[in-house]
Amino acid sequence: MAAPAEPVHDVPSSGTGGPLRIGVSACLLGQEVRYDAGHKREPFVAEVLARHVELVPVCPEVAIGLGVPREPIRLEGTAAAPRAIGVLSRDLDVTERLRGYGRQTAERLADISGYILKSKSPSCGLRRVKLVGEDGRLRRSATGIFAAELERALPLLPMVEEDDLGEPAMRENFMERVYGYRRWQDLRQQGLTYERLARFHAAHELILLSRSRAALLRLRRLLASAGDRPIDALAQEYGKAFMQALARPASRRGHAAALERLLRGLRRQLEAEDRVELEELIAAYRSGRLPRIVPLTLLRHHLRRHRSAELDRQLYLAWPQIVLGQWCAP
Ligand code: SF4
Repeated sequence: MAAPAEPVHDVPSSGTGGPLRIGVSACLLGQEVRYDAGHKREPFVAEVLARHVELVPVCPEVAIGLGVPREPIRLEGTAAAPRAIGVLSRDLDVTERLRGYGRQTAERLADISGYILKSKSPSCGLRRVKLVGEDGRLRRSATGIFAAELERALPLLPMVEEDDLGEPAMRENFMERVYGYRRWQDLRQQGLTYERLARFHAAHELILLSRSRAALLRLRRLLASAGDRPIDALAQEYGKAFMQALARPASRRGHAAALERLLRGLRRQLEAEDRVELEELIAAYRSGRLPRIVPLTLLRHHLRRHRSAELDRQLYLAWPQIVLGQWCAP
């Protein structure tokens, strides 16, 4: 049997544009921009991720003219409409400046494919930031002013706090979202057509299956019932549902279903003992006895030998673990 020389997928597609760019709170890269002139260097971001993508550091508080060191600010008011007020100077209110800089950053960095934010910060924190309520009580219920504005302006952009990157499964999920969003950006840039959208969907079928069969079916139905809908309206709904599906972490069961789908696609070309071996490896992965890379590597090996147009285009075969090695989930 012929063994084609090219690999099935060596790295995830980053599309037709330039390098993959991710915005990041500058203090996470070791820049001494915090109110106390310190930093919060995060080794995974500063050392590992920095080798694979272009990181774009942003410190909103410095950018709006607060110096280093500076008086700390905190959130006050309600979670729906918090204000960023000086802890010592009660008349210092930088809410509007931070909002304006958030909008400006969203426009300036419209090509970024993800954002890593410093947790707990009244500017950058994404969730559970401390807020002094109108009753004077402290709650962990707000979003930082800059982060909220960024989220509003770029609702599909994958955003994460550095705390959430501590878990391999969360890191992997974030990178999957980043790569997925980048491919979506590339598709929009190339110009949307029904055919391109259908091809985009087909390439992501197994990635979606690993997250949620229901979400996969919903997206399929959306495309199948497109009818005469204008492509922009269809794409808007599809893009939102696609990124929502990616935001859900893949489960072991979901991955096993995706691996089985790959095996089904190869079934007729495989010798009986190869089929049985793969079935056993997938079952061992499903029950937690083997890491996913074992059945996946063997499937990739067989795919190199028995090319299948349908399976070759599955981006599931190019998951971020290949790029980020041991940093992703087993
Ligand atoms: S959390 Fe945001 S505002 Fe605060 S120092 Fe880091 S980058 Fe600057």
